[in-house]
Amino acid sequence: MTATHTAYIGLGSNLEDPVQQLKTALQELDQLPETSLTQASSLYSSKPVGPQDQPDFVNAVAKLETSLEPLALLDQLQALEQTHRRVRERHWGPRTLDLDLLLFDDQIISHPRLIVPHAHMHERGFVLLPLAEISPNLSLPGKGSITDILSNIATDDLQILTKSE
Ligand code: ATP
Ligand code: CA
Ligand code: CA
Repeated sequence: MTATHTAYIGLGSNLEDPVQQLKTALQELDQLPETSLTQASSLYSSKPVGPQDQPDFVNAVAKLETSLEPLALLDQLQALEQTHRRVRERHWGPRTLDLDLLLFDDQIISHPRLIVPHAHMHERGFVLLPLAEISPNLSLPGKGSITDILSNIATDDLQILTKSE
């Protein structure tokens, strides 16, 4: 494999054994074509965004090396969500697996299907804390260093569930 790109993926689940959903998803990310998983954060529990009458989420961030281009990687992520039989009835409601493409090298992408960096990542503790765990020196294109951004947002609803190995 010619690994030419570094991509970060945000994983989330709050249905049907979320910890297992994420552990399986991490293995599946490693098995995507032209892709390998190089780092995974701990698993974190977080309070849901939006409607509160749903279970807590489990979140993590994965670092991938891939020679897929961004839209091809998004296709793969969406196919994986489908294999986890994602149920999605309302915006920000419960789901078995959500895979967001957070960062792709230092590219800024604005496409009808794909906004990179992910549009809300800089305001979400459940994305930034696991991301900073695996890449503390990262900068978000157009947004500055991850530690600076993290110092300005709430992370007290987050708990480490399972340490990364
Ligand atoms: P949020 O984007 O606020 O986290 P969500 O994850 O619930 O919300 P989805 O229903 O999973 O949103 O995705 C809606 C659409 O967002 C997808 O069909 C996809 O084409 C688009 N999208 C745009 N940018 C991205 C990205 N960086 N990663 C994943 N999907 C994206
Ligand atoms: Ca998503
Ligand atoms: Ca999401």
